[in-house]
Amino acid sequence: MKELICIVCPRGCHLQVDEDNGFAVTGNSCPRGAEYGRNEAVHPVRTLTSTVRIEGAPITRLPVRTASAIPKALLFDAMNEINRTSVHAPVKRGQAVIKDLLGTGVDVIATRDL
Ligand code: SF4
Repeated sequence: MKELICIVCPRGCHLQVDEDNGFAVTGNSCPRGAEYGRNEAVHPVRTLTSTVRIEGAPITRLPVRTASAIPKALLFDAMNEINRTSVHAPVKRGQAVIKDLLGTGVDVIATRDL
């Protein structure tokens, strides 16, 4: 039995996910918690936010995030890739600064114009 706190809303329900029973979820107050608990047990993912180096702009770091969630197991390698990346101004909000991060099919995008 895996125990989790649901982070989908501020209520923070305490979930139990039964891996031996088809990942059945209990402790949730709504269906979103059941979905979160099952996904977290089977295939945990996270949206990654960070910054990359930028040249030719008034500040030296450009805020970025993954366009959607990526597997949690890839977060460390994803940060290494982001830390190796450098871009040149101008950059538009939503512009991909890394395409297909680690073969996930997910881009890393700028979160502001700079
Ligand atoms: S189970 Fe539903 S009510 Fe409870 S924290 Fe998750 S989203 Fe919120």
